[in-house]
Amino acid sequence: TVPVLCVDGPTASGKGTLAARLAARLGYHLLDSGALYRVTALAALQAGLNIDAANETAIAELARRLPVRFEGDRVLLNGQDVSDAIRSEEGGMNASKVSALPAVRIALVALQHSFARLPGLVADGRDMGTVIFPAAPLKVFLTASAAQRAERRHKQLISKGIPARIDVLRADLEARDARDMNRAVAPLKPAEDALLLDNSSLSIEASVDQVLAWWQDKQPF
Ligand code: C5P
Repeated sequence: TVPVLCVDGPTASGKGTLAARLAARLGYHLLDSGALYRVTALAALQAGLNIDAANETAIAELARRLPVRFEGDRVLLNGQDVSDAIRSEEGGMNASKVSALPAVRIALVALQHSFARLPGLVADGRDMGTVIFPAAPLKVFLTASAAQRAERRHKQLISKGIPARIDVLRADLEARDARDMNRAVAPLKPAEDALLLDNSSLSIEASVDQVLAWWQDKQPF
């Protein structure tokens, strides 16, 4: 069986960075499941579908045959580089809406499972440990204070030359967390056997080292 290391947590908790570093250190594949929801939302909008329950079946159909490809840190939809389009705040909000549609979540299960290949997988998302890979030997639930997360997101945007206000970002991410935690299917919460890591005052390196130490403890699987 393929070893899977799950990293779940709220918006802007640093999951993406942590998961990518872990995958690089372990030489494992990486699943950015949030990107799949972001791409699905974009594909729906491009097809002229509003993201709401009335279009659930149609959007799920799109998700089931999503022509998505990952090339390094670029994400391609139908061969087109949509990395920047899906990484916007709006892209995140649309992803959160699309991810609340149960049929869409089901439609993306097989695609997510297909990422589990040898020598191993680091899976980044909201329900990696609870729904997609419940048998994974290590499930990390990453948290950080809302203030910290808003500040990090702000720095990220400013460094890309995108103007942003911390208070607006914080309100946005709290709205997204609320929707993710309160939805009927696969709500954001730690798996029962998840290990909690609050990285509010940890460097990325320290977080990586902590998780690698936990991973060592789980050997052999
Ligand atoms: O992680 P990221 O911010 O890219 O995810 C975008 C949105 O996709 C999240 O706010 C969440 O609503 C949804 N998502 C999800 N399940 C996952 C990953 C992301 O519902 N496994």
